[in-house]
Amino acid sequence: MREAVQALTDRYGRVHDYLRISVTDQCNLRCLYCMPEEGMEFAESASLLTYDQIVEVVEAGALLGISKLRITGGEPLIRPRLDKLIARLSAIPGIDDIALTTNGIFLAKQAKALKAAGLKRVNISLDTLDPARFRFIARTGELRKVMEGIQAAAEAGFAPIKLNCVLLKDVNEDEIAQFLKLAYEQPLHVRFIEYMPIGHADENWKKHYLPLRRVLDIARDEGYAISRRENVHGNGPSEDWSIAGGQGSFGLIHPISDHFCKNCNRLRLTSDGSMKPCLYWVDELNVKGALGEPDKMRKLFFKAMDIKPENHEMAAKLADEEQSHVPTERRMSQIGG
Ligand code: SAM
Ligand code: SF4
Repeated sequence: MREAVQALTDRYGRVHDYLRISVTDQCNLRCLYCMPEEGMEFAESASLLTYDQIVEVVEAGALLGISKLRITGGEPLIRPRLDKLIARLSAIPGIDDIALTTNGIFLAKQAKALKAAGLKRVNISLDTLDPARFRFIARTGELRKVMEGIQAAAEAGFAPIKLNCVLLKDVNEDEIAQFLKLAYEQPLHVRFIEYMPIGHADENWKKHYLPLRRVLDIARDEGYAISRRENVHGNGPSEDWSIAGGQGSFGLIHPISDHFCKNCNRLRLTSDGSMKPCLYWVDELNVKGALGEPDKMRKLFFKAMDIKPENHEMAAKLADEEQSHVPTERRMSQIGG
């Protein structure tokens, strides 16, 4: 791999090599923890960064040590010919890993083309194994399509396939054992995720937030011999576990009950052209103003390092403590979760 010209290091000594890129804020689903059922306002399509502009930002980042990308949204597979963007990004010197987070509905049709374009890994969101409950959580769409997407991703050669499961108290917590069984029986990595108060920190969040330690209790109650393992290939904050004799594994992503900010290595690019150093806080930088000006773009990356906070304060939010700073009003789909 090429040596970076200058590492992106923030005021707390954290080196950044990972950029998450939202390619759209639009989505074909309306997951209850991510968007309201109705009345969601989306960015004008003219305000979205074009593929040329995204490539320009990534080229600048790659010169500063960005080597890993994740394409997300909204639902990234809504954006036409995403494979063309992936192909261009994977050709950028220094970029050695491109992953995708998707709800999986459109994946069956696109998996092969994405793989051929250079996509290395896929995370597919799956919060329930029950078709009726899928409709309740996603408010539309069909579980069957997601399952077909998972199958197609495996057939296209993606491995390991990771499933993202946001655990919600009184909604899908009774499926933890079934998800563990899935990870035991199939070569899948199930990532349980804590419900985060991004852009809609209201009573609904407090009502459904579930700390993830519960998963470990259930795994042991179900009789699985589990042990901590190295992070399953990725750049994330996941606490990963093996299941003795199992085909797959599972992970816990617990930003609230045990936050992982001290190892944060990521920046986020929103679909409408803002650079966000932290998912939680309001601060962002206008990337569009630096397009076509390499020096300005380079400075913008360093500015992101300067303003990056030490940590988020989602746990303080849960405890109704005062926040030290202003949380973002953007929702997860608008930032790129
Ligand atoms: N539409 C794609 C999908 O659902 O996979 C990609 C975008 S979605 C915003 C990315 C991830 O964020 C998904 O795994 C989703 O479950 C997760 N997510 C969305 N809102 C969340 C929240 N409030 N707390 C925790 N995870 C959330
Ligand atoms: Fe759409 Fe993903 Fe948000 Fe669900 S989590 S509404 S699939 S962007």
